[in-house]
Amino acid sequence: MVNFGFTEEQELIKKSVREWCAKNLPIEKVREMDTKQQVPRETVKGMADLGILLPTVPEEHGGAGLDWVSACIIAEEMGYADVTIAIPAGFQVVEGGWGHDIDKYCSEKVRKEYIQPAIRGEKFVGIATTEPGGGSDVAAFKCTAKKEGDEWILNGEKAYISGTEECKEWGGGFWILARSGPAPPGKPHRNMTGFFLPFEAPGVEISKRYDDMGRMALSCGAFTMKDVRLSDEYVVGEVDKGFYPTMEGFDNARILISCSAVGVAQRVLEIGMEYIKERKAFGRPIGKFEGIQFELADLYAKNEAIRTLCYKVAWMVDQREKGKMKSLELAKWISYCKLLAPWHALKCAETAMIWLGAWGYTKECPLEMAYRGLMSYCVGAEGAINIQRIVIGRELLGREFVPYK
Ligand SMILES: Cc1cc2nc3c(=O)[nH]c(=O)nc-3n(C[C@H](O)[C@H](O)[C@H](O)COP(=O)(O)OP(=O)(O)OC[C@H]3O[C@@H](n4cnc5c(N)ncnc54)[C@H](O)[C@@H]3O)c2cc1C
Repeated sequence: MVNFGFTEEQELIKKSVREWCAKNLPIEKVREMDTKQQVPRETVKGMADLGILLPTVPEEHGGAGLDWVSACIIAEEMGYADVTIAIPAGFQVVEGGWGHDIDKYCSEKVRKEYIQPAIRGEKFVGIATTEPGGGSDVAAFKCTAKKEGDEWILNGEKAYISGTEECKEWGGGFWILARSGPAPPGKPHRNMTGFFLPFEAPGVEISKRYDDMGRMALSCGAFTMKDVRLSDEYVVGEVDKGFYPTMEGFDNARILISCSAVGVAQRVLEIGMEYIKERKAFGRPIGKFEGIQFELADLYAKNEAIRTLCYKVAWMVDQREKGKMKSLELAKWISYCKLLAPWHALKCAETAMIWLGAWGYTKECPLEMAYRGLMSYCVGAEGAINIQRIVIGRELLGREFVPYK
């Protein structure tokens, strides 16, 4: 029999995160973070104390050992509170999604020195696959890793990376993917190796901070690696087979961001509903006009449908973790969520802004922050929209229909 309810423990997590956010992340605080372009350290510490940083890392590795449905509940609640998506992006999606992946495949040294401090809110861990030449075509990346004696020598540049300034200031590092050997003909994803790059390693230098349009409280930058020397202990996963755990990391991050987007959509629709019930035009609340009410009905119904889909897929990620489902079986389901959730949330924010009229266009109103933040997940972060379509098309029609082959 199908059971669509959360467990008692999951309900409790939802309640405690909602209460923590109401107290610690009111919309005025979110506006302040957006303006000052910084997430306060005490906010991050508070999340650590609540046990919601990298929440799926197993207890035996120093984490809370939560399941993925619970992690998605946290991501949704954080999106509901921080509609700019800066906190959900940095601390649920990047650290929570990719941190889980690093922990799963890294050495004990990396776990102790980086993952466990990140769980305590003391360091930042992120993901750096994108390069200046592009992000979608992972197999075409140019960063190199060459083995010399006992050491790996890394060279290249990573671009549009979330959390570069936090990593520099707090300490931490990034999962990176580098070419460790020539690609065999027709197999460009082979001979790539994953590494954990400590940001303090000699040869690592931030080359840029982007002046993004949204998610202002979380930095986004580029960095170069010049003859960075790392021992085998920094290899994540198997040498030359880094592509596969990287795809797993994308799946983790994509389901989390989809749930955050559902949370933002819920919040902006609530802001919209409050307004259309109060605001009067032509002698009645504008919510009485079908032109507005029907838009609300359509957007709300679709968000409920996307939420249901996302939690089904979160449950599937739990099945993957239990070894009951293969990553490849999950791929199209994850892409359904990433394709639908951020765009729908953006549509909700845009429509609510229209309902609120001139007020919706001001910075006194939170909707514009949501719009700016959501756009990052539509243009590219954690995989561009057309890449989701390619994954879905590939899984439905077969590999011979992949457009770029
Ligand atoms: C705010 C923000 C934060 C980010 N943080 C990180 C991070 O922490 N770590 C990280 O590694 N990266 C990060 N990124 C980068 C992100 O992963 C990339 O933007 C994404 O992978 C897309 O790469 P691109 O921007 O180079 O676009 P490209 O790959 O150059 O694609 C450009 C456009 O072409 C389309 N396209 C590409 N190929 C095809 C095709 N075959 N068919 C049809 N259309 C196609 C894409 O959909 C896209 O619209 C971040 C991006 C943003 C905006």
